[in-house]
Amino acid sequence: MTKTILITGSSSGLGRATAKHFHAKGWNVVATMRNPEREEELIRLDRVLVTRLDVQDLASIQAAVDAGISKFGRIDALMNNAGYGAYGPLEVTSLDKIRRQFDVNVLGVLATTKALLPHFRANRSGVIVNISSGGGRVTLPLGTLYHGTKFAVEGLSESLHFELAPLGVRVKIVEPGAIKTDFMSRSLDFSNDPQLSEYQPLVQKVLAVIGPMMEQGAPPERVAESVYTATTDDSNQLRYEVGVDVVELLGSRRSMDDAAFLGGMRTQFGLEG
Ligand code: NAP
Repeated sequence: MTKTILITGSSSGLGRATAKHFHAKGWNVVATMRNPEREEELIRLDRVLVTRLDVQDLASIQAAVDAGISKFGRIDALMNNAGYGAYGPLEVTSLDKIRRQFDVNVLGVLATTKALLPHFRANRSGVIVNISSGGGRVTLPLGTLYHGTKFAVEGLSESLHFELAPLGVRVKIVEPGAIKTDFMSRSLDFSNDPQLSEYQPLVQKVLAVIGPMMEQGAPPERVAESVYTATTDDSNQLRYEVGVDVVELLGSRRSMDDAAFLGGMRTQFGLEG
């Protein structure tokens, strides 16, 4: 029987690339997004249901899950992909921005997962692939919020993978490094106040690192392939690193203790002394 995946944030980047990849592999795809009326490409594909899902709107999550099951009979996999990056000094970041970052990147993952669990439990099968980041294992300065959410995704996914194993449901974490999407223009929400001069040297250094890092990113199809492997490999492997940069970085992180690794990062950002 043809299998079905539901993907959040399919309007661009990793979500869109993964929707196309699973479709090309013969899967049905429930390609969800906040504004499906703007979608022009995915609506033209057979076996793809484009429907509305805003992870901040609980009713839209349930409606998308119901629409997917009603259209394809069942859902076999969920990719929790919707997310964005709130960066900048905490002191200048509004509480609204803080709440929104955790709402989308963390509560969105939990709420969408909860909406599918009764279905997965009844089927005694299902795969949940949560898009974390290399930034879910290591941090850059001024990423208090983004890294806070991605570390949360790592922890919640790891614990949940134990909880759901007896139900026949697998949880997977995909950790992309820099991937060349529209993340910088669409999904980077950088707060700053130039008048707070104490933060400005670090702001400049971080911006100088992030821009070129994203420019040299791997293509989104690499993540799509990894999500496909994670969904179909029938293994208990929890984490999948995507990209040479993240494999090197996390390898280096594992090879050092905190003092050595964090000391290296402080030096890189001119924070020694
Ligand atoms: P992107 O192209 O900007 O895509 C972000 C997606 O999230 C968009 O489809 C956006 O939808 C959606 N989204 C935002 N808020 C949402 C909400 N409330 N409800 C539903 N969807 C929402 O960026 P991307 O690089 O593909 O990012 C996708 C995921 O990969 C994120 O979780 C990100 O943290 C992670 N990631 C990316 C990289 C990278 O280098 N690109 C690296 C590591 C991890 P709209 O079109 O409606 O805005």
